[in-house]
Parts: sequence; C-alpha cells; structure tokens
Amino acid sequence: MASRRGALRLLVAAGALTGLVAIAACSVMAPPFGAHRSSLPTNERVVALTYDDGPNPPHTEAILEILAREQVPATWFVMGAHVEAHPDSARAILAGGHELANHTWSHSVLPALSIQQVRQEFERTDAILEEIGATGPYRVRAPWTARGLQAAWWLAETGREHVGVSASGWDWEPSTGREVADRVLRDVAPGTIVLLHDGGHDRPDADRSWTVEATALLIPALRAQGYRFVRIGDLPAPE
Ligand SMILES: [Zn+2]
Repeated sequence: MASRRGALRLLVAAGALTGLVAIAACSVMAPPFGAHRSSLPTNERVVALTYDDGPNPPHTEAILEILAREQVPATWFVMGAHVEAHPDSARAILAGGHELANHTWSHSVLPALSIQQVRQEFERTDAILEEIGATGPYRVRAPWTARGLQAAWWLAETGREHVGVSASGWDWEPSTGREVADRVLRDVAPGTIVLLHDGGHDRPDADRSWTVEATALLIPALRAQGYRFVRIGDLPAPE
C-alpha cells in the first residue's frame, strides 16, 4: 500500500515537473507578456528586410551599397560590441536612412541571465547607438529570438517592442546567394519579416558574401511579385 502511494506521489511529481518544463520552454520563445511581432500588420505586399549581428565590414557596406542603389530601406539589429568595434559602419547604416535596432551587447542567451544582466545587455547597446548619433526608440530582437521571462518582463516594463522573424535565409552557414534568396522567397507572404545576417555573433569577421549576393537577387525578385520594402518602424506597432 505504502509503495503504491509512493509510486502515485512520484507520478504526480513527474507530471508537475513535465508541466513546469513545458511552461518554461513556452516562456522562452513566447512569454505571456510584452509587445511582440513576427510579421507586419498588413495584408498588402510589403516585406521588411532585417540584418542581424553586425556591423561587419566589408559585408555591411556591400549590402548598404545595394540597398542604396535599389532605394530599399531595411532594419539592422546590431550588436553593441560590434558597433563599438565598427562605429563608422554603424554610422553608414544610419546615413543610409535605415532603422537601427538593438540585438543586445554580446548576443548572450537571455533566458540564462538575471533581469539586471538583461537590462545591461540592452541599455549598454542603447547607449552606444545614441553615441553614434541614432535616436530611439530602438526595437529589440533577442538573440535567437529567445526572450525568456526576464527579458520579456524588462521589455514590457520599459514599453519596448520585440521583433521576431517570419522567413529566414539560414545564412549563418556557408551558402550561395541563390540558396539564401530561394529560402526567403519560398516563405515570403504579405507582411513577412525576413531574417538575414550581415555579421556573425561568434565571429567578428564572419564571411557573409552569400548574404550580399542574396540581397542583390531578392530585391528584383520580390519587386517582380509586387512587393515593396519597409522598415519595421514604418508600420504601426502591435497592441
Ligand atoms: Zn543574432
């Protein structure tokens, strides 16, 4: 009898633990609070190109050159540490009429940090963006879009918006421009937020030549489908 009760207790405990793990996992990717969007609020053929983990010369500049030639605005989720290393590249993004946004200082795993550490990751990056002449509010993208409860709480508390993604070029691995562009084109729809990378979070001088090529291919391909390009901040924020 005693052993059966013990087994029952064990079963209840295991069930509770499984539930807690499930809640924790959901909270990392989709916390229950804080403004968040992973697509743009529109049925029109608009798309937002976003570039993460830079600045990273010369690839940042090469992409900027294509965007300038095509008159396409984009949103750049830069790392504070990389802005510190390449302030001129960050200023070039700003001078190109693009939106600068906050991708933390060091690309840490936010769910593993304290609220104080999360705040430092974002506020230190805000400060260096101000230093190079940008003006907020800066939208935020957590590394790997994994906010966790701490970051979600801080973002909600400070009224900051978190921006996810709805199509990815999977360009953090060596690839070709054609492959990266095709991955994006396969998933594109009205309001898509496209994830590309001009930088590498763990390699300050990452090769992103395929992302440069993909940018040159994507713009005419999307225009041929009737798409126009916006920065994240060009459309109204989510409720
Ligand atoms: Zn990143």
